[in-house]
Amino acid sequence: MSMKLIRFRSAGKTLKGKLNEDGTASLLLYSDAADPVFPLELAFGEERLRIDRLLAPIVPVDILAIGLNYREHAAERNETSPPVPMLFIKAGNTLNHPGADIVHSPRTTQLDYEGELAVVIGRDAKDVRREHALEYVFGYTCANDVTARDWQRERNLGGGQFARGKSFDGFCPLGPCLVTADEIPDPQALRIKTFVNGELRQNALTSDMIFDVPALIESLSSTMTLRAGCVILTGTPSGAGFAFDPPRWLKAGDRVRIDIDGIGSLENPVVAG
Ligand code: MG
Repeated sequence: MSMKLIRFRSAGKTLKGKLNEDGTASLLLYSDAADPVFPLELAFGEERLRIDRLLAPIVPVDILAIGLNYREHAAERNETSPPVPMLFIKAGNTLNHPGADIVHSPRTTQLDYEGELAVVIGRDAKDVRREHALEYVFGYTCANDVTARDWQRERNLGGGQFARGKSFDGFCPLGPCLVTADEIPDPQALRIKTFVNGELRQNALTSDMIFDVPALIESLSSTMTLRAGCVILTGTPSGAGFAFDPPRWLKAGDRVRIDIDGIGSLENPVVAG
């Protein structure tokens, strides 16, 4: 049985629980607001609750993200694979929810999507060797590493570092659910697809990652503590909007959907800002 953990709004409250196959939720029992993720012992109530709205399944303590981590994506940017993972950070204001608007700020003319597998760290990880790395993973969800490409790249916009172009409000939709690590024994065996208005734009296997999830945890935890509740966006495959000629930037009215095997679909509309 698949365990899909969610946060959701129901009857005016923000709750944690699991998604049932009939679209209702079962309330998580013994939840503690101080839990950075979900408690290790999961127990659920009998009652079936209506979901008014799904929320991002976790409020991350940090949002770490990896650039150039798929072989084909690195190739389409004419960049060689880096010797260590290329880390950047998205600010907390970027957190966004399943179905919620991606606001197209008038400050950017190059709004882009990046479908990604997101890893949720379950306990503090420091100096973790790759053979133990997956023991620190609580679970997985889908992410859209929304990007203002102009602010990421152009020197006159402060580009070169990624923080600003990656951290407009709402630039990190997560969801629709958090699937526990025991349900995904091999995170490198997942199909990831991104659709814009139903058109397939990205279609890859996570086995194409240059640095797999254990390698990312080993490398990142060698210089920083990956705290419980930290989310790592593992990089995007080829087929983001910039890679087309001419580029296919997102515009108001578009809908972006990211599907990952065994997790589900994260869909967000783009609206004018
Ligand atoms: Mg990315």
